[in-house]
Amino acid sequence: MSETVQVTRPTTNELDTPTYRLAVAQFDQAAEALNLDPNLRQRLKLPQRSLIVSIPVRMDNGSVEVFTGYRVQHDSSRGPSKGGIRYHPDVNLGEVAALAMWMTWKCALAGLPYGGAKGGVKVAPKKLSRSELQRLTRRYAAEIFPLIGPDKDVPAPDVGTDAQVMAWIMDTYSQQVGYAVQGVVTGKPLSIGGSLGREEATGRGVVYVTMEALRHLKMDIEKATVAIQGFGNVGSNTALIMQEAGAKVIAVSDVTGGIYNAKGLDIPELLRRYRTNGQTLRDTKMGDFLTNEELLQLNCTVLVPAALSEQITEKNAANLRCRILAEGANGPTTLEADRILIDKGVFIIPDILANSGGVIVSYFEWVQDAQRFFWKAKDIQERLHEIITNAFHRTLSFASAKKTSMRMAALMSGIDKVAQAHLQRGLYP
Ligand code: GLU
Repeated sequence: MSETVQVTRPTTNELDTPTYRLAVAQFDQAAEALNLDPNLRQRLKLPQRSLIVSIPVRMDNGSVEVFTGYRVQHDSSRGPSKGGIRYHPDVNLGEVAALAMWMTWKCALAGLPYGGAKGGVKVAPKKLSRSELQRLTRRYAAEIFPLIGPDKDVPAPDVGTDAQVMAWIMDTYSQQVGYAVQGVVTGKPLSIGGSLGREEATGRGVVYVTMEALRHLKMDIEKATVAIQGFGNVGSNTALIMQEAGAKVIAVSDVTGGIYNAKGLDIPELLRRYRTNGQTLRDTKMGDFLTNEELLQLNCTVLVPAALSEQITEKNAANLRCRILAEGANGPTTLEADRILIDKGVFIIPDILANSGGVIVSYFEWVQDAQRFFWKAKDIQERLHEIITNAFHRTLSFASAKKTSMRMAALMSGIDKVAQAHLQRGLYP
């Protein structure tokens, strides 16, 4: 009597969210253009490992609240996996998996010896007290402890986390093993092995690649106007460094909306008012109020989405009036919007290239921690400049050689490097 065995294909249902679908659709398009091995295609669409953890936290009022956290490692064929930790109420497994996949391509494109990972906790961090945030972070770090380590997986800041959160993770990990392990996270404070220039690195990278794009388009930075969606770490540092580089920043926004000033905003003064009084951008009274949607549709030379994913969609893409789109955020543009923008002739610097300055300087931090030898700010800026502008020009040449978009060129270069590593290592066992 013969038995019929039902063979089922691996399902991706748990991951199936809009952001994950966007990452997979981009991957499918690039894999097709590369004529990628079908076995590899199946594997690279899925994460290597996904961990879901429950995080019980003693709240200040004595009650215990349980939060859900994730750590997803998409790939580790080229080295330890690397990627930030996000604290946001909308965090879910699919989003974290998509962000982990983008980290894999981003690290490969920049030539860093890392695979991609991402973590997240479904929480609104601003609603917690500092001690609640610390307890949440330490328990989350203890729960993901088996996955992380300087040679395994190295977290960093992302939306809703910062150097202080990294310090608590570094301490929690170090307490478990019994000695100080600096290289377990990057984006740390300087006192415990952080790197000069890490905090501003993503913004600085956005400015470096934008300057290359302007040069390529034979445009002058002194005449460029810039609009930035998002005023967190990436948005605010991009604004500051854009202004230092000679551009006029005409609008910035945060979740509550933004401000517009045709004469250009004084960014250091704006930051001072924004930070000292804990105000909204509107309360700084430095420009006219505008909504996030209006900001995206401003007439400007450079538009920098530096907030969350899927902001530029088929609904608003046709109304964009920028010459260059420099993606500071991860996944800000849907595939439908991409096509509309390309038809309009917008020059797109895709996320995995435009925002790679953060992970590039994270790499420097990890190397410095391993060497126990720390570099000067000037060395960091020069090395960041060299790596990111080389990646920009390689992507530009690839795009023109293959007659494809900058986004496809970036994805194809990244995916191809990861595919080579897999094929050369072979399939275990
Ligand atoms: N979270 C940042 C990103 O999305 C930085 C990651 C890192 O430095 O590891 O690229």
